[in-house]
Amino acid sequence: MQKRRNFIGTSLSLLTAWILKPALGEAKPFVDVKIVDSPLVLSTWKFGLKANEEAWKTLADNGRSLDAVEQGVRLVEADPNERSVGYGGRPDRDGKVTLDACIMDENANIGSVAGLEHIMHAVSVARAVMEKTPHVMFVGDGALQFALEQGFKKQNLLTKESEKEWKEWLKTAQYKPVVNIENHDTIGMIALDAKGNLSGACTTSGMAFKMHGRVGDSPIIGAGLFVDNEVGAVTATGHGEEIIRVVGAHLVVELMRAGKKPSDACKQAVVQIKRKLELRNKNPRDVQIGFIAINKQGQYGAFALQQGFNFAVKSKTETRLVEANYLL
Ligand code: ASP
Repeated sequence: MQKRRNFIGTSLSLLTAWILKPALGEAKPFVDVKIVDSPLVLSTWKFGLKANEEAWKTLADNGRSLDAVEQGVRLVEADPNERSVGYGGRPDRDGKVTLDACIMDENANIGSVAGLEHIMHAVSVARAVMEKTPHVMFVGDGALQFALEQGFKKQNLLTKESEKEWKEWLKTAQYKPVVNIENHDTIGMIALDAKGNLSGACTTSGMAFKMHGRVGDSPIIGAGLFVDNEVGAVTATGHGEEIIRVVGAHLVVELMRAGKKPSDACKQAVVQIKRKLELRNKNPRDVQIGFIAINKQGQYGAFALQQGFNFAVKSKTETRLVEANYLL
């Protein structure tokens, strides 16, 4: 009987995958896709592909989504070739690599660090804030002091390549982030585990050559990341100042709570950001924003302000990089 049930389950999954196949193969495929099988993991940008593989080790083993997202983004934090996250991240205008990260679980536990220097795995420090303190957010020197007390290793995060680029930048010293040129980019990851629980994490070195002390959306729960285990999980990337202005990730979760599908919810938040830019006489074409979202049913979606934002998906039935739909 058990075997027969497994067989029927597998056949249904294969059938559903077959039915979905044409939709998934289109050039602009992205509508909400119903995943029949959890687990599921989504990450921002191309580096999300390898981060998802890392997270999958935990998810495929019936592990907790919280562990999966932490392990997944740690991989990118440790990679010196990824120049917008963790070790090797581009510095601020004073040549300091300062990291922003946060994490949130299915029980609304949250932890966050901003402006953290000298510690590679900012996301794990954020998790320690969540699990080992009565607080939710540590910044700057206090965050570093806490990390050292927790046994994190102090190290130089500025690689030769990033230092060289910074010295080059100093010749003009103009802060003008270019859309879709990878001088920023956060790894944001959201996951639904086999038990149906949602978690998320994000980590970044922020906008390259930002003013020292600048904090983006990524460590701000509600802006760069938000999880409500009854509704869905959302993370953001792009110009953090604009995401904070509308409390982006929380906005998308609330739109899903009101009944919107993940991609429609992401789109509405992007529309709202564009409106706020116009209100302030800013050109939306100078800005990029991307949201990714999963709802409790395992549907996922994304939307960007401009062309060029992609995200990585992994489930039992698909492993791929998807070009998000966009507004402009
Ligand atoms: N959102 C990040 C920040 O503003 C950068 C990015 O994801 O592109 O710091």
